[in-house]
Amino acid sequence: MVCGMNAIIISIGSELTFGQTVDTNSAWLSLRLAEVGVRVIAHVTVSDELEPIRREIARACELADVVLISGGLGPTEDDLTRQALATAMGVELRLRPEFLGEIRDFFTRRNREMPESNRIQAMFPAGSEPIHNTCGTAPGIRASVGKATVFVMPGVPREMKVMYELDVLPHLRAATGQGVMLARTILTFGAGESDVGDKIRDLMQRGRNPAVGTTAQQLIIGIRIHAHGETREAARSLLDETAADVRSRLGTLVFGEDRDTLWSAVVSVLIEKGKTVSTAESCTGGLIAKSLTDVAGSSACFIDGVVTYSNSAKTRLLGVPAEMIARHGAVSRPVAEAMAVNCRRLSGSDYAISVTGIAGPTGGTPDKPVGLVYIGLADPSGCEVTEHRIGDFLTRDEIRDRTRKIALNRLRLKLSSQ
Ligand code: AMP
Ligand code: MG
Repeated sequence: MVCGMNAIIISIGSELTFGQTVDTNSAWLSLRLAEVGVRVIAHVTVSDELEPIRREIARACELADVVLISGGLGPTEDDLTRQALATAMGVELRLRPEFLGEIRDFFTRRNREMPESNRIQAMFPAGSEPIHNTCGTAPGIRASVGKATVFVMPGVPREMKVMYELDVLPHLRAATGQGVMLARTILTFGAGESDVGDKIRDLMQRGRNPAVGTTAQQLIIGIRIHAHGETREAARSLLDETAADVRSRLGTLVFGEDRDTLWSAVVSVLIEKGKTVSTAESCTGGLIAKSLTDVAGSSACFIDGVVTYSNSAKTRLLGVPAEMIARHGAVSRPVAEAMAVNCRRLSGSDYAISVTGIAGPTGGTPDKPVGLVYIGLADPSGCEVTEHRIGDFLTRDEIRDRTRKIALNRLRLKLSSQ
């Protein structure tokens, strides 16, 4: 490693510990710190209470080189971060008159008088450095506590981000030298996390640069790669090399990187090959059509989609014979096939996807349990229907989400094999 700086991020606010507000500041800061090669070893969330905040600041300063704090700098009684920092430093709060003037000006510019409670925002622990806030009233604080450097920023995400860019980042850059960390996530679908892990086990060894790890989210397994280099170019070339290795080992399981989705991947391949698709959906209620049309530019490949939820709609809109539905049931292989084949014919598309299944939580039988889904994929050469038992332990939303992913992945694989 070029540099070995460790950081701890502390988020302060009872709204966070109560769960009313989701702590997005820590995630944002972690991603930004990775870019300059600072390793985050812990996220800590603390309620608005003096002693717990003091304790966490003191503990973090013993463990990390840099401690980034957000929240609790407001003017109200419950904002206690500055007091807690002063206690952790063993010093008093002192008024900085020039900052009082700055806060007054902020109100004057808005034709308001400064409430007396805002005075506290011009008080800083003795020996600390105030940080100007260019888009709010609360100045930040920079201080040394033991061997650690502490930065305190406002909790409001917009203000925190601006202060990070203008003050914290330049300080970190100066302290870390030119080390750069770059990250990329390779996205896969179709294998479990342990199967994917087995194929790249040697790349996942601790201490390796680039570092490689896996993440799993609703059937999508991501392979996270963090590359550290002295320069951006060095980091980029290490990253590219490992990414290429991962891609070649995982083959067609890989559908994209970073912000790609299965649907954006499908749309790009369809456009690249000049092919079109249509959809006939029952239990997914239009989710597949919605996902495809979420992708900008999908009008070049998406023809149309029907939601044939009832039996009569399957017959009326897609020409599925009523006696077929009566004999096999709406959730069956023949119905999925008829839906896909007829949808393709009616819309004139190259491919048609059909879905019929039981999304639950009710409607399952021993024969046809919740989570049973048939997916049809019609193309010029015919139609293939696959049966899936997605699992009755999942919620309705999860079953529908997984169904769309499995369906679109089938189309993706079909396209890549043709
Ligand atoms: P504060 O600086 O503690 O007065 O926080 C002001 C507001 O910023 C809070 O009411 C929250 O809505 C928001 N906020 C504070 N901390 C965070 C955080 N870690 N992530 C996202 N929003 C936050
Ligand atoms: Mg607060």
